Amino acid sequence: MTLFPEMCRTVMSESIIGRAQKAGKVEIVCTDIRDFAGNKHNKVDDMPYGGGMGMIMSASPIYNCYKSLYAENEEKPHLIYLSPKGRTFTQRRARELSRLDRIVLLCGHYEGIDERVIEEIVDEEISLGDFVLTGGEIPALAVADAVCRMLPGVLSENVCFEEESHYGGFLEYPQYTRPSVWNGRSVPEVLLSGNHAKIADWRHKQSLKTTLEKRPEMLEKAWLTEEDKRFLEEISEKKD
Ligand code: SAM
Repeated sequence: MTLFPEMCRTVMSESIIGRAQKAGKVEIVCTDIRDFAGNKHNKVDDMPYGGGMGMIMSASPIYNCYKSLYAENEEKPHLIYLSPKGRTFTQRRARELSRLDRIVLLCGHYEGIDERVIEEIVDEEISLGDFVLTGGEIPALAVADAVCRMLPGVLSENVCFEEESHYGGFLEYPQYTRPSVWNGRSVPEVLLSGNHAKIADWRHKQSLKTTLEKRPEMLEKAWLTEEDKRFLEEISEKKD
């Protein structure tokens, strides 16, 4: 639900998500809130009560737009309002949302939306981070992309996202492609060895090392084996 459906449609019709839509793996519908303005000038915003800068999106167009998305006898789809006041989006939440049959993403604009419609219909508020954007479209596209790529058949194999940063509580190991030497920098020897067990072990250790270096706080929540703990201690000591 957006005031800028074309912007969302354009992004979602490209690349992997565009192909997934064509293959029928996922359906993304961009609905124009303005179509539900209910007045002859198609006005969807008004001045804030109490004064202040900017305009506020009115409750009724948003409410009527949402109501049009499901039939009376259908279950109410999970409605997410993209908002800087929401909980910060995570890979874990993306995975949970990918298990729902249907989600609706509500994009605010201007100074935000009338609080009463949030109370009436919104199930969850999600933020992209502690900063303020001009509208909810970019966060909605980010959420839609992260959720859709975890749906069955969207990526070639689940391993594509299962080994990625954040999925298992770690950041991903470094990746390389041809040529094996570029600007005098060589690809780590083990990756050319063809020894899958050694490669898996190297990647896991690199994943631990990268997480320790870039986001050490993630390791506090991660599930670590005794061997992982020993390895982390070893590299921490070397660093000191
Ligand atoms: N006045 C609001 C406030 O201070 O909380 C900010 C409104 S913002 C300019 C307009 C719209 O952009 C919001 O209604 C929301 O949909 C979206 N938005 C802005 N920053 C966001 C963020 N960090 N995460 C998710 N949505 C965001």
